[in-house]
Formats: sequence, C-alpha cells, structure tokens
Amino acid sequence: MNIHEYQAKAVLREFGVPVPRGIPAFSVDEAVKGANELGGPVWVVKAQIHAGGRGKAGGVKVVKSVDDVKKEATRLLGSTLVTHQTGPKGKQVNRLYIEEGSAIDKEFYLSMLVDRARARVAIVVSTEGGMDIEQVAHDTPDKIITVPIDVATNICPHHVRTISKALGLDADLQKQASSLITKLYKAFTEKDMALLEVNPLVVTKDKKLICLDAKVGFDDNALFRHPDVVALRDETEEDPKEIEASKYDLNYVALDGSIGCMVNGAGLAMATMDIIKLYGMEPANFLDVGGSASKDKVAAAFKIITSDPKVKGILVNIFGGIMKCDVIAEGVVAAVKEVGLKVPLVVRLEGTNVELGKKIIKESGLNVTSGDDLDDAAQKIVAAVKKAA
Ligand code: ADP
Ligand code: MG
Repeated sequence: MNIHEYQAKAVLREFGVPVPRGIPAFSVDEAVKGANELGGPVWVVKAQIHAGGRGKAGGVKVVKSVDDVKKEATRLLGSTLVTHQTGPKGKQVNRLYIEEGSAIDKEFYLSMLVDRARARVAIVVSTEGGMDIEQVAHDTPDKIITVPIDVATNICPHHVRTISKALGLDADLQKQASSLITKLYKAFTEKDMALLEVNPLVVTKDKKLICLDAKVGFDDNALFRHPDVVALRDETEEDPKEIEASKYDLNYVALDGSIGCMVNGAGLAMATMDIIKLYGMEPANFLDVGGSASKDKVAAAFKIITSDPKVKGILVNIFGGIMKCDVIAEGVVAAVKEVGLKVPLVVRLEGTNVELGKKIIKESGLNVTSGDDLDDAAQKIVAAVKKAA
C-alpha cells in the first residue's frame, strides 16, 4: 500500500526525521490558508498523487507570493498530471501539499528497501539526486551505492561512514546523516515499510540535511499490525478492481492484455499466462482465487474479470486439490447468471469433483466451451477471441 508524500512526511516527522514544514490542502482556500500559516517568503505547491516525476510534469512549483500559491493551486487541483510514472492516462490531482521552500545547495538520492536475495534492508544512495535517478541508474550505475543492513545488528557506525563517504559529506553533515539515517531506518522497520525513497535528500545553503521528498510503500502483509497506516489509504489512487479483489482476499493484478484468467494458485497463474502468450495473446490480469475459495468468492472474482472492458475472452483454469471443481463451477454459473456473459468463456477443470463440476456447467445451459487440458483450453480461448474480433 502506498501513501502520499505529505502523509509519508508526517510519519517520518513522528520519528524525528527532519522534513520541511508543510500543510496539506484539498481546496484552493485551504491552500491559501496554509500558505499564510507557513508565512513564506518562499512556498512550494506540490501535487499529491501516488507517482513520482511530478516536478518535470509541472506538479511541483516554487513560488514567492500567496497570490502565486493561489494561482498554482487553482491550476493544479482537478487537473490531470501525466508523469513518467503515471502511464499515459495520468492521475487526477485532488490534494496538494503547501510546503516551505528550502534553499538547496546539493541534492542526493537515498532509499531503503527490502533486499530479498540478501535478506537485508538495502540502503541505496547516490550523489546524483533530484529528478532523474532512473537515468542515472541506466547511464552511470557506478554512481549508485548499495549498503546492505543486517536486521539483527541494524545500523552501525561503519554503515554511516560508507554512506557519508559516498555522498562526500563533511564531519558536521556526517553527524546529521548518522541521526537522519538511524531515524529513517527505525521508521522503515517499525512501520513495516517495503520502500522508503527520499529523492532528493538535500543539503541546504545553511548546511542542514533534510528530506525534501518522501515516497513510502508498506508491506501489505503487515498492515494488520498498523491500523494507523491503513487509515492513510487513498482508494481514489488505486484500481477499483484491485480494491474489490482485496475485500474478498483475492490476489488480483491488472495487466495489459485481453484474456481474463481465473486460476487457483500463483504457479498455475504463471503457467496460464505463459501459455496464453505462447499462443499469441496477452493476459488481461492475474487472478488467483486461492486454495479454498467459496462459491461467493469465485463469483466475486468472475465479476471483477467481466467488469474489465479490456477483457475479450475468459479462461478459467482450475486444478482442484483442496479447492473443489464443483464449487468453482457453481461460482462461475452464479456470476454469469447475475451479470451475463458478453465474451467467450473457456473452462478447464481438473482434480477433485471434476465430473460434478463439468456437469454443473453443462446443465447450466450457458455458452461455455470446455477445455480438455491447459494446452487445449489456451488454444480454444485464443481462437475464440480472434474469431470474435
Ligand atoms: P518529484 O520527485 O515527484 O518530481 P519532488 O518532491 O522530488 O517531486 O520535487 C521535485 C523537485 O522540486 C525537487 O528535486 C526539488 O528540486 C524541488 N523541491 C521540492 N520540494 C521543495 C522544497 N520544499 N523547497 C525547494 N525545492 C523543492
Ligand atoms: Mg522526488
């Protein structure tokens, strides 16, 4: 789960991390009020969307009067911002953050993330902070330094020395870095973050180290431990289909293709996506109903797939183990009866209660093609979608 910059900064502030003063605003009036409260003389009007690259897209504006705060707030609120992270459709700006302007001397990059391969927290830093870290990683990867932290021993002085050296910090800044990194790390681990990205981390003209931007994502599997974090969720930033899926505890990921896949188990989902690609089409999603779904859960899953206008055909591929084929069949039939079926549907069932499952589908009178095995089913759905196009 991701949160907005202003929320991330509020979380970091709780841990004593230095961030600029700022006030969130949901309307132009609130933006003006916030600007007056902050007092200037320099303000930054920042669009709050769950995507980076705002600066380059006109979503971050440094201004020198309350009038200009008002002008920028009017321009941004309700507008759609297209950045290199939003995709071509962009994201609508519904919230702003009005922040005091900092006089920047240097911009660095700093992030923390879970390095699964090493089973460590990785701290990644670069002197080339600011707006183009992807480009830096591509062109000059040696300018990006990774420092793995063992969670059993946490941050040690030598980690801070390595980072400070990489960033070319003098003794005073090194002291500030030690405190800042320790606090960021505490926030990262205590709040079960998956990603904490500060780009830029800046040195101001009066030699203060502060976090000027903050992007935070949390580990969804640990959210039950953090009701305060869940309260920060902004559902308008998320795919409504993914929200619906999370209500039913379904693993759903939207993809770009045209064939909706309902499967059980991530391994089978992968195999199903692979074979669809093998026969020349692309999956529209990854929807895993899990090992022991009820009829209602299956029906909900099916409705999520059919509600996606990109879906031109559906492949249900179930290997019944604990999951029973008749339960899948009942769920699919119930969902189709409720919402109708406008695209071809191929069902391949195998395993526990397979005969009963096939019977339920056959007797439903629905226009469903049955697949003998995964290969046959994939060919049939691809052919049906091509024919319908
Ligand atoms: P994004 O990463 O989405 O482009 P940032 O918050 O990093 O957004 O802002 C982009 C740039 O705007 C920063 O690299 C920095 O140069 C400038 N900036 C952001 N916040 C401030 C601030 N409070 N004071 C001065 N400059 C800022
Ligand atoms: Mg940034």
